[in-house]
Amino acid sequence: MFLEPHFKGQRSGWIEVICGSMFSGKTEELLRRLKRAKIANQQVEIFKPFIDTRYDVNKVVSHDSNFILSTPVKNAKKILELVNNVNVVGIDEAQFFDEDLAEVCQALALKGIRVIISGLDMDYKGKPFGPMPTLLSVAEYITKLHAICSHCGNLATHSYRLSLEEQQVALGEKDKYEARCRTCYHMGNILDLRMPGSGGEKKEDI
Ligand SMILES: [Zn+2]
Repeated sequence: MFLEPHFKGQRSGWIEVICGSMFSGKTEELLRRLKRAKIANQQVEIFKPFIDTRYDVNKVVSHDSNFILSTPVKNAKKILELVNNVNVVGIDEAQFFDEDLAEVCQALALKGIRVIISGLDMDYKGKPFGPMPTLLSVAEYITKLHAICSHCGNLATHSYRLSLEEQQVALGEKDKYEARCRTCYHMGNILDLRMPGSGGEKKEDI
């Protein structure tokens, strides 16, 4: 469990990164931290990349009374223009942002703002995703979350794409991805019962 650092005297900003595969609970952890700050009467804002259209614009990201509005932005620098009089800035789906995000987060931290970033550390090919490697380098605190492997129940670190799309970004949830451990990820479509010709059949087809 992440515990916030305690500073006496002059207020100081810092950067926290929450990373991991899909279905590892990154957004929930981001919201948990933001909600606690909000309960303590801190001013909190969330930004997310415009590309992430799975949710409504200006969506309310949690269901209880401590809701936090999230603002979609077209690029990282836009965040600097929009942040005004806040203590804590949350950034969701950070992997979809441009490379300026690390610079933007460092500028916010220098202003005394606590910056909490949530994002996929690897894309579906197992490669570092967008600005995440740079963010991990400059962050004060890093939390790597794990999902549960859909095949063997071990801790999952990889996001396996079930669909045949090959571009780096293909938005989707359980319809397109599953969390896998390293071993099951590298077994590829041998384990994918939905892939024709993989040797696997759906249960209802047997
Ligand atoms: Zn596994």
